[in-house]
Amino acid sequence: MNYVVIDRGDELSKKLAVDFHTLAAARGFTRNEGHPEIVISIGGDGTLLQAFHTYADRIDEVAFVGIHTGHLGFFADWKIDELEELVRMMAEEEPKIVRYPLAEIVLDTSEGLSTHIAVNEFTLKGVDNTLVAQIDINDELFEMFRGDGIVVSTPSGSTAYNKSLGGAVIHPSIECLQIAEIASINNRVYRTLGSSVVLPQHHHCDIISRKDQRLQLTFDHLNITRSDIRAIRCSVSTRKISFARYRPFPFWNRVREAFLGYDVK
Ligand code: NAP
Ligand code: MN
Repeated sequence: MNYVVIDRGDELSKKLAVDFHTLAAARGFTRNEGHPEIVISIGGDGTLLQAFHTYADRIDEVAFVGIHTGHLGFFADWKIDELEELVRMMAEEEPKIVRYPLAEIVLDTSEGLSTHIAVNEFTLKGVDNTLVAQIDINDELFEMFRGDGIVVSTPSGSTAYNKSLGGAVIHPSIECLQIAEIASINNRVYRTLGSSVVLPQHHHCDIISRKDQRLQLTFDHLNITRSDIRAIRCSVSTRKISFARYRPFPFWNRVREAFLGYDVK
């Protein structure tokens, strides 16, 4: 088995990465940074996001496994004292491959079109002023937005930034995107729905920002600033992220554990 480890960079995560390599070598696994089948993320959910973007162009060929060195994560289910058990299962058992939807964001800029993907969400904010943008759904005007920003999240991202904005928590088996507002200004000219909306897999939305605005865009933890954005199209990607599950890790247990504090058995 070809694998790679990406760790958060703190002492504990780095030590666990070394331990993992020792256990993996004893099982005959091969470290292969260029062509891994399994990408092990050691750290937190943010580490998994980094691992995903490192292998974004090979996303159809890799499956992710998360080991958490802090609190139980949404993407990381293995604990620090379970490395041996994980490596044993990787050697002896077939994992269940669970596939979660991704967001696809196509930027139309003065340089042409560029495509980005996100596991959690895409966000758009104004840098110097409030964001002013027209939002179309399926090529028809939906609303005129003025405010701090817009967050377009995947179901797996629904428990992240989206949740802080009062968006709904969505099971990742539902192929959709959720659009949530950040502090929209409502008056006679700029009028938004206020509640977040959920788009199904075959719909798309276009965000057409006012010309020459300096905008901050984020794709998960990555961010860029641009002033030449003409329009942004958001849709559910045809690609998905795969997780290798060697044991069940039910989404609702993660939600309960993370936000309500009841122990997951
Ligand atoms: P960060 O500032 O360290 O992350 C913020 C928190 O979000 C961390 O506790 C992180 O968990 C957690 N998180 C990440 N993905 C999650 C998910 N799918 N469900 C529930 N919690 C999740 O930055 P980061 O670690 O690079 O993560 C980037 C993410 O931060 C963005 O994708 C965005 O969702 C989130 N964010 C949230 C807010 C907000 O809620 N106001 C604002 C900006 C960004 P770990 O500690 O395990 O990494
Ligand atoms: Mn983090």
